[in-house]
Amino acid sequence: MDTQQDWDIYDVTIVGGGPAGMYAAFYSGMRAMRTKIIEAKRELGGFMRTYPEKIVWDVGGVGPVRCERLIEILEKQARTFDPAIVFGQAVAGMNRREDGVFELTSTTGERHYTRTVILCAGRGMTQVQKLDIHGANRYELANLHYTITDLSRFAGKRVLISGGGDSAVDWANELEKLAKEVIVVHRRSEFTAHERPVAQMRTFAKVLTPYRISGLYGSADRIARVALTHTETGEPEEVEADEVIVSHGYDRDFGNLVNWGLEREDYGVSVDAKMRTNLPGIFGAGDFITYGSKVRLIAGAFNDAVLAVNSAKMFLEPSATDMAGVSSHNERFFEKNKAVIEEEKQRQQN
Ligand SMILES: Cc1cc2nc3c(=O)[nH]c(=O)nc-3n(C[C@H](O)[C@H](O)[C@H](O)COP(=O)(O)OP(=O)(O)OC[C@H]3O[C@@H](n4cnc5c(N)ncnc54)[C@H](O)[C@@H]3O)c2cc1C
Repeated sequence: MDTQQDWDIYDVTIVGGGPAGMYAAFYSGMRAMRTKIIEAKRELGGFMRTYPEKIVWDVGGVGPVRCERLIEILEKQARTFDPAIVFGQAVAGMNRREDGVFELTSTTGERHYTRTVILCAGRGMTQVQKLDIHGANRYELANLHYTITDLSRFAGKRVLISGGGDSAVDWANELEKLAKEVIVVHRRSEFTAHERPVAQMRTFAKVLTPYRISGLYGSADRIARVALTHTETGEPEEVEADEVIVSHGYDRDFGNLVNWGLEREDYGVSVDAKMRTNLPGIFGAGDFITYGSKVRLIAGAFNDAVLAVNSAKMFLEPSATDMAGVSSHNERFFEKNKAVIEEEKQRQQN
């Protein structure tokens, strides 16, 4: 047995720092549990980091908001009760010791000790699917993009977008008024994106199907021309482009989490109505899990997180109430409320 100290052992360890993990960290603080988040990447936000420029409308209580701003708000909330946050470690191994403490090991070899685990690993460790063209990476600093963080760079430009899913088509539509010309290339004749946005895109974009990108040409670090190949006839085509956006989706990697003995269905790890997996002490929330009425949205992730944290609390303290007191009456906020009221006063005076 390791000789770690009691203070090394957290009440709750949350695996994954997307919306489910961030909200679980906040709510776990509401329930006065010592909390740690372990996130494989070097930042919180999860899958939302792949659409930072998009405007999100369907999160309760927040108006239409740029996704990047929503991440900032969520991160601030997640840090309310100062959870420990570990970046750059993917949780891989799990061993439940005889005293009931879980020993989690990460891919960097570090160990983490915890009494409960909430799995918020979403779509796993996602890697963007890059172009399989030799040397393509040398254009990534200039005009080859896999995510978009600033739409204004496309103003007045000829933009080529490759992809046939919702993301590719949404970007095309967002660029309608901004770009000089939008060219959409897709390897199939039919788009998988929703019908209505596809119809809108076809009203203004030059759509080339079924074609795939077969070569990139230009100066040392900037693409000027894109070679295309017809996927059925092999016929070549070439188009000029100032900017190239590739939206081919993501590879998902759940690493070793799926070998812990968790029961799974097609869309994720099975949980019951209280977000309990089949392994006692291990709960789940967000896109990583599935149950009958699962909502694969940020709002759904929040609800799962509340239920998972409440279950973790009751696992540790069977006599605890099954939910936290409402935040407006929660004594954990008494001191923090003074600062909020002060900020409000200052705002009104200015
Ligand atoms: C293009 C697009 C647009 C969308 N737009 C909206 C929208 O407008 N409104 C809305 O409500 N929803 C939207 N969604 C859905 C929303 O993004 C997801 O429902 C949400 O991100 C799920 O959150 P999560 O925390 O469960 O998982 P994720 O966001 O996937 O986060 C999981 C985190 O876990 C980490 N992780 C994975 N494995 C490990 C491991 N072994 N160890 C440590 N860390 C690990 C990952 O790095 C990641 O940071 C959209 C989705 C897409 C694809």
